[in-house]
Amino acid sequence: MNLFAGLEKFGLKAEDTTNLFAEEKKTVVTEEGEKKEAAPEEESFLLDKTIRCAVCDQVFKTKMIKNGRVKRMEPDADLRPRFEYIDTLKYNVVSCPFCGYTAISRYFDHLSSLQVKMVKEQVCANFKADGTSSEAAIVDYDTAIERYKLALFCTIAKKGKTSEKAYVCLNLAWVLRGKYESLDPADPANEAVRKECKEQEEIFYQQAYEGLNKAMSTESYPICGMDECTMDYLIATMSVHFRKFDVASKCIARIQQSPSASKKMKERAFDLKNQIVEEIKKSKQ
Ligand SMILES: [Zn+2]
Repeated sequence: MNLFAGLEKFGLKAEDTTNLFAEEKKTVVTEEGEKKEAAPEEESFLLDKTIRCAVCDQVFKTKMIKNGRVKRMEPDADLRPRFEYIDTLKYNVVSCPFCGYTAISRYFDHLSSLQVKMVKEQVCANFKADGTSSEAAIVDYDTAIERYKLALFCTIAKKGKTSEKAYVCLNLAWVLRGKYESLDPADPANEAVRKECKEQEEIFYQQAYEGLNKAMSTESYPICGMDECTMDYLIATMSVHFRKFDVASKCIARIQQSPSASKKMKERAFDLKNQIVEEIKKSKQ
């Protein structure tokens, strides 16, 4: 149907006008009455990827991020990656719905035949599928948290490296932080869940800290995909969190002396050093 039928007499001709809003961006009117661009659906950042399980050999689909579509934002002080509209960390873990084998994507395919055997004995033999074989359109926080916990369980079962265990804990802590941030603090119904998220985050963050420190002295770089400077910086920020200022200061000194540290990394280290000075001053007051 031509919505503008009848306008011909004015010398105007508009064809194919059934969809007036096809090219327009969706807008929503906020409570204050101002117009704001609607956030795109989480699904629009995702694609299905077919995976063959490295343990049971079955094929399943999992959601992955369309890398070209997401926009990176400034990370948290401890390098937790952040993207506009979506928490990509929820999609960074792959879980086989058939046998339960789960790992952070980068580690999923990399296990020895001995490790396959250990996962089969300690995970798959007892694993009960929860009946939801079809992957939901998006991964919610609770599912993501569950998967990271499964990944940690599997990493222990396969006697994975210290760094892998620590990295799962770090990602789990970050996802718990993401869940915490996603819950509206103004709603009293969220209070208990937010408190629990913070407590859990702290527990896994502590585990990650211990593991990363251990990995630093026992493994060679890159560790969890991080070079020495990045790792020093991460440990420094975590040390400040746990008020281990001596460890933090040593890491910062290494970054400042490193010829391979980027300008940005040196600036970050400098800011962190000032923060430590402030914290120590405060604690002496
Ligand atoms: Zn499997």
